[in-house]
Amino acid sequence: MVTGEITTEATQTPPQLPHHKVKTKKVGQRACNEKNDKGKACGGHLKRWFYTTDVLEIECGDVEKAWGRDAEVYRCEYCQTLYLPNPADDKVNVAGRGLKSVFGLTLPPKEK
Ligand SMILES: [Zn+2]
Repeated sequence: MVTGEITTEATQTPPQLPHHKVKTKKVGQRACNEKNDKGKACGGHLKRWFYTTDVLEIECGDVEKAWGRDAEVYRCEYCQTLYLPNPADDKVNVAGRGLKSVFGLTLPPKEK
């Protein structure tokens, strides 16, 4: 049991999708910190991911079902882990986008 790590991991772990691993970005995070088999951080670049135009994802449909059609999602270019924006990041980018209500609108029933 590694009690020390669990708390930090927990804050970074939003509800998972059936076919995608989902994490929350740390403030200012630009590279994937998902660990590979050898325990090294992946380091892949996190890119904004437009899943409604992604052929594979259109078939999968997980993301759109869970978050709607225009949620802000980032994806690691290597391991394809999905990253949700950190709410605190909004305060860093003062570019002024008033979109906050994406979550909570179309939450699907919890599957177990
Ligand atoms: Zn990665």
